[in-house]
Amino acid sequence: SNFADCGFHPAINKNINLAGYKIPTPIQRYTIPAIKNNFDVIGIAQTGSGKTAAYMIPILDKLMGKAKKLAAPRPNPATFQPGVTKPVRAEPLVVVLVPTRELAIQIFNEARRFCYRSMLRPCVVYGGGPVSEQARQLERGCDVLIASPGRLIDFIDRPHTLTLRRLKYMVIDEADEMLHSDWEEDFQKIMAGGEQDEGNVKYSLFSATFPKQLRDLAKMYLNEAHVRFR
Ligand code: AMP
Repeated sequence: SNFADCGFHPAINKNINLAGYKIPTPIQRYTIPAIKNNFDVIGIAQTGSGKTAAYMIPILDKLMGKAKKLAAPRPNPATFQPGVTKPVRAEPLVVVLVPTRELAIQIFNEARRFCYRSMLRPCVVYGGGPVSEQARQLERGCDVLIASPGRLIDFIDRPHTLTLRRLKYMVIDEADEMLHSDWEEDFQKIMAGGEQDEGNVKYSLFSATFPKQLRDLAKMYLNEAHVRFR
């Protein structure tokens, strides 16, 4: 099978061609139909397996058909003037939670690649980066947010900056790298803003290992998850 047979939105097909991807990797062959059919997914996969595109492509494809209706409110980029144009509050449809700044930037680049020439706008926020510049990016509108948990919580706690009330997809990438002592509390705090209606948010969980802490989280939040080990 190849990408052309997946029935993707034309913008996604164009961007897959621009990326030079011809055939889906094994993890992509697994997650693309699962996410298309509204299942939660768990992928036990390593970096290099194509796991980023494995969730990015089908999630963006699902949203693009409805992008006109769903895309976040945003100022007109043609007339945007920093400090003059009234900022909007970021209301992302997708959040990708990641443990490190390096991974955040890498995934942001993949998100940009597949959001190109669509109504969807990606943003990235991470600890150690400049808060004011990240806030300025969010104020221009944000549909797909790549974030480290601590910085995401900082922005949720800032008045009128970011809300997850429109969240449709939560991706937890390199999940086993995020299991420090405050992880569960942080995750609950993040999802308190996202789970408006029970089962409304679709989850994708990617991890190199699958320890008890993650199995418990999956049991708590994921519905009808399709699991693939390697
Ligand atoms: P990842 O595992 O997401 O870090 O991806 C590893 C590398 O594979 C990245 O450089 C991707 O751009 C690339 N890649 C992902 N999917 C495909 C594909 N289907 N065909 C060719 N390259 C891909």
